[in-house]
Amino acid sequence: MAASLEKLVNELKVPPGRQIDLKVDFDPGYTGHIISKEDAQEQLVAGIQELAEGQDKLYAQDTYALFINLQAMDAAGKDSTIKHVMSGVNPQGVLVKSFKVPSEEELDHDYLWRNFLELPERGNIGIFNRSYYEEVLVVRVHPDLLERQKLPPRLKGHDIWERRYEEINNFEKYLTDNGIIVLKFFLNVSKEIQKKRFLERIDQPDKNWKFSAADVLERRHWDAYMDAYNEMFNHTSTSWAPWYIIPADHKWFTRLAVVSVINHTLDGLKLAYPKVSPEQKAALKKAKEEMEQEESGPAQPARIKKKRNR
Ligand code: ATP
Ligand code: MG
Repeated sequence: MAASLEKLVNELKVPPGRQIDLKVDFDPGYTGHIISKEDAQEQLVAGIQELAEGQDKLYAQDTYALFINLQAMDAAGKDSTIKHVMSGVNPQGVLVKSFKVPSEEELDHDYLWRNFLELPERGNIGIFNRSYYEEVLVVRVHPDLLERQKLPPRLKGHDIWERRYEEINNFEKYLTDNGIIVLKFFLNVSKEIQKKRFLERIDQPDKNWKFSAADVLERRHWDAYMDAYNEMFNHTSTSWAPWYIIPADHKWFTRLAVVSVINHTLDGLKLAYPKVSPEQKAALKKAKEEMEQEESGPAQPARIKKKRNR
């Protein structure tokens, strides 16, 4: 990976243990040191190719899983980022799960339960389009959602958010200690660009399906969401599962940034194809010889007899 992209990856990371202020420290319109959109597109193509190669090894090695968490305000580009960044990978090794408002059955369990069920298996990439992080975001912004959660009353106090941060950190530590590598992206779109994209969804008939009136209602809570995000970053960006805040006002840049962080992470795993033992090598040689003999050997006698006319 180019040194400039390595530098970028570092810039986008929320430094574990340091307090950040989303508004001050992370600009949604940032485009790094990339000179032009064309330049970024070229680098994206190379990044997608690199990811395909990384995924092939991840799959073959069957030791690690890559678990990607995507969070964002509406219209930040989660769906299109997944579509573009994953366009080169083998579909057999990737699974995307979108988490919506929990069902009755899900509410009868602890909040991590439904997430556990969808975690990627070794060798695979699993993408959560929203996740348990909603439990300290939308649930915090809308207290009635917490009311629905059937928790014992004494566990619904103000300390619930701190407790959830700790539970999430422990959960992610458990995963990384078991070879499930955790990556977390926040697609950081500005309020102005969200508005622009919502208006496009309303004005362009082929984008109408993407728009929901509820999205505009959520937009009213923008500041409360930003506060919840800020606090979440400051509690859950850990050395084992750091957050990356991805500028999302320019989609072409968002994609390049995301693929670069993924490639950087896979690189750090020092993935390799499994080593073949001497016995396996001997077996491969034998199989090859057998097939070569087949081709050069005598023609097989025809076994199909002509039907006799009676
Ligand atoms: P998206 O908005 O992610 O692109 P979508 O528009 O297709 O997806 P929505 O119907 O908006 O689908 O579903 C996502 C909604 O579910 C979001 O508003 C989100 O806040 C909510 N949600 C997700 N997880 C939870 C949760 N644990 N508790 C409450 N609400 C949740
Ligand atoms: Mg939505």
